[in-house]
Formats: sequence, C-alpha cells, structure tokens
Amino acid sequence: MECTNLWRMTDALSAGKISSSYRQALEVIEAIEPRIAEATRQELIDQRGSLKLIASENYASPAVLLTMGSWFSDKYAEGTIGHRFYAGCQNVDIVESVAAEHARELFGAPYAYVQPHSGIDANLVAFWSILAHRIESPALAELGAKNVNELSDSDWEQLRGRLGNQRLLGMSLDAGGHLTHGFRPNISGKMFHQQQYGTDPSTGLLDYDLVAAKAREFRPLILVAGYSAYPRRVNFATMREIADEVGATLMVDMAHFAGLVAGKVFTGDEDPVPHAHVVTTTTHKSLRGPRGGMVLATEEYAPSVDRGCPMVLGGPLSHMMAAKAVALAEARQPGFRTYAQQVADNAKSLAEGFLSRGATLVTGGTDNHIVLVDVSGFGLTGRQAESALLDAGVVTNRNSVPADPNGAWYTSGIRIGTPALTTRGFGHEEFDRVAELMVDVLRNTQPGVTSAGAPSKATYALADGVADRIRAASAELLDKNPLYPGLELS
Ligand SMILES: *Cc1c(COP(=O)(O)O)cnc(C)c1O
Repeated sequence: MECTNLWRMTDALSAGKISSSYRQALEVIEAIEPRIAEATRQELIDQRGSLKLIASENYASPAVLLTMGSWFSDKYAEGTIGHRFYAGCQNVDIVESVAAEHARELFGAPYAYVQPHSGIDANLVAFWSILAHRIESPALAELGAKNVNELSDSDWEQLRGRLGNQRLLGMSLDAGGHLTHGFRPNISGKMFHQQQYGTDPSTGLLDYDLVAAKAREFRPLILVAGYSAYPRRVNFATMREIADEVGATLMVDMAHFAGLVAGKVFTGDEDPVPHAHVVTTTTHKSLRGPRGGMVLATEEYAPSVDRGCPMVLGGPLSHMMAAKAVALAEARQPGFRTYAQQVADNAKSLAEGFLSRGATLVTGGTDNHIVLVDVSGFGLTGRQAESALLDAGVVTNRNSVPADPNGAWYTSGIRIGTPALTTRGFGHEEFDRVAELMVDVLRNTQPGVTSAGAPSKATYALADGVADRIRAASAELLDKNPLYPGLELS
C-alpha cells in the first residue's frame, strides 16, 4: 500500500506544521469575516465525517492545498509562456512551464496547455481550437486574408456562418456522456449541430459499430469520446479509426479518468493520449489535483490550442497552475500508480459487494472507478435513494441510467466512485462494507406519496434508527482512515 494514502507523500510537511499553518491562517481570516473561517472549519469536519462516494471528487494533498493560497493570485498573465500581455510575468512563466512539462511527461503528450480554469473551459478551448485549426485557416485563405485582423465585417459574417455550422458527435447524457459533449441546453449543443451516440440498451455497453454507423451518416467535424458516468473502459484506438474514416478530429475528454491514465491503469488502446488529436481533462477528479482543467494536443493542434487565451479564456489563474504543477509532480511519483490501481481494484470490490447482495448494476459491473447502481430494483428513484443515503451520511449523486424512465431530474440510478475514499486509504474490505451499508439503507427506504396520495418520485421514508446505525458503522471505517491525519484546527 506504498503511498496509496497521499499524506505519506508529504512527510516533509509534518502534521504539526500543517496544523499550525492552518490555525494561523484561519485566525487571520476570522478577523475579517468570521463566517468564512467557521464554514471552512465546518467543511473539514463534514468531509471527515461522511463517506464521500461522489465519483468526480477527491482530496488533494496538503502540498496542493497550500500552493493554491499564494500571491500568484494577484498577477495578471494573459498570453502564453514568454509572450504575455502584461509585464513582470517571469515567475508565472516558470510556474506554467513546470506544470506543462509535468503534464507532457506524465501523459506522454507532445503539448500541454495548463491554463483552463475548469474542465468545461478546457472543452471550450478545445472546441474553438479545433474549429480554428480545421475551418478558420482554409476559410481565411479563401477570403484572401492572412489573419483574422484582415477580415471585413462581411467576411466575419461568412466566417461565423461556417464556424457555427459544424457537426459534433458525442456520447449522450443518459448513456454517461457529459453536458459539454453536445447536450442541447449546453453551449456545445447550440454552437454545433449535434448528434449523440448511446449505448446498447440490452447490455449498457458502448457499441462501436453503432458509433461508426452514426459517424458515417452524420459525418461530424469532431467526434468526442469520454464520459462522466459510464462504468467501463473505452477503446480509443477504435474511436480514432472511426474518426479517421469520416475525416473527424478525435477529441477525448478524460476529465473523469485522467488519474487512471496517469497511473497507467489505462494503457495501449485504453490510453487516449496516443490516439486522440486533442485530449481535455479536469485536474481535480481522479487526478487528485486542484480544481482546474488542461488540454493535451498533438504537434498539429498545439498552435491553435495555445491560443486558448485570449481566444476563450481570460487571465490564467497562476496560483492554480502552480498547484497543478505540484499535483502533477505527485502523480509522477511511483506511489500514484499504486493509488490508481487501488482505485480500479476498489471499484471492483464495491461492484461485487452490490452484486452479491442482489443489486443491479448498469453494464453488470465496472472496469474503471465508477459503479452505477440501478436503484429501481429497490423500488426507488435515484432522487429518493440519494436523499436517504445522505441522511445516513453517505454522499453520492443520482444519475440517469440508459433509457431512464424517470428522466434526468429524478433518475433511476446512483453513481458512486472510489477515488476519494481510496485516497483516505480504503481497500477491498472497506469497500465491501460500504456496499453492505448502502444496500442496508436502500432496503430500508420506502418511496413516499404526494400530498394528494399519489406515488411520489421525491419523497421517501427511511426506517427508524437506520440512519444512526449506518452513521455509527461508517464512523468506524472513517476513523480508521482519517482525512488529513494530524491536521487539528483547535
Ligand atoms: C467533470 C467533467 C467536466 C467539467 O469539469 P468542470 O471542472 O466541472 O468544468 C467536463 N467533462 C467531463 C467528462 C467531466 O466529467
């Protein structure tokens, strides 16, 4: 279990030193706005005391957390490394270069852009970069202009027509795709003509023949692969073959599973980096860094991605780029591979824990960090299950299952993930116990009725005493695997 628990990676910062740093910092904050100091203290208590199973969350190391709180926040640095629109960016240049270097080395990518403020920003940068690369350059040549500054108003009108008239094919939301992959209410569904590929309704698995058939018919400019709620691995070599056949750019959004790529759990055809033209990610999910985003690209796409600021983004968050550099350095340590493998092994334990107790899982299991429980077998909606579990101190989120009869608001599923609790040190036994506790809650929850007496999709009744019993049992697991051990705020 070498380094699975990240606090062993930060031995240099002894627990006592971290405690006094935070105590003093909170005193300073308290003097200005006590409610914020108090909420910050309470957040630690709450996170320590609940089973965090939200698949997109994690706990960053103290080194990462401390890096975020610096005066790099005070600096404007629009532009790129060495080419800033502001003076005095020599230290930001170091920060951004180090972060990008770690990202390139960690993922084996020719180019890394570490400025995006979040995963969605990374996707917007990627979309506009692909448009710029694929459309803008030939269009400019046709319009007789060398660069965008030479375009007249009517040229712009034409260019907008072209830029806005492009096709994007992504995974549908109810199959596990993300809002930014062409979901209608999202900007990606408005700036592109979009179509979606789903999963096989009988197995819940991606059907590559169906993706290929859709791609041949629709001929997208961009084929997006990646997911937020799909419990299986994706073959990116096959996705690239499909993209190549129809002349599409393959963009992979690895926001959820970047940690499994970094930790070499996903290799070969399952590693998106050698196969995609452009890869986007968050840095705060399985990668265990600060909240933020990143874009990796081939040499071919690098120049257009490098225009992310000012094309899409404003001033980069230099303090966050610094924290990304620290997190990426941590992810390059051998211990991170142990962690990533444990995340995947733990998801298997969790899935087996549910299956052996009679629960139904979308796709029948998992081979990544996500387990998607279909709670309709318990007679519940996702909303009811999510609320009852929260009452018992188990934090999850409701999620659609394929062809969900309860729609995207109430849903029929619960999405759970292993990255956060694995960081705390949970292993096979703990995750089996987590499954047992969750099934206990679900079995003891009854769907409610509306005030008019009709069946309700939202209200529920958790049997007396269950919440307390589950909280006590969870506390045992949590106490054995403390969050930020040694960090005492009072
Ligand atoms: C979480 C996620 C995002 C968005 O990340 P934010 O940092 O919340 O903007 C984008 N794509 C996928 C696939 C995600 O899972």
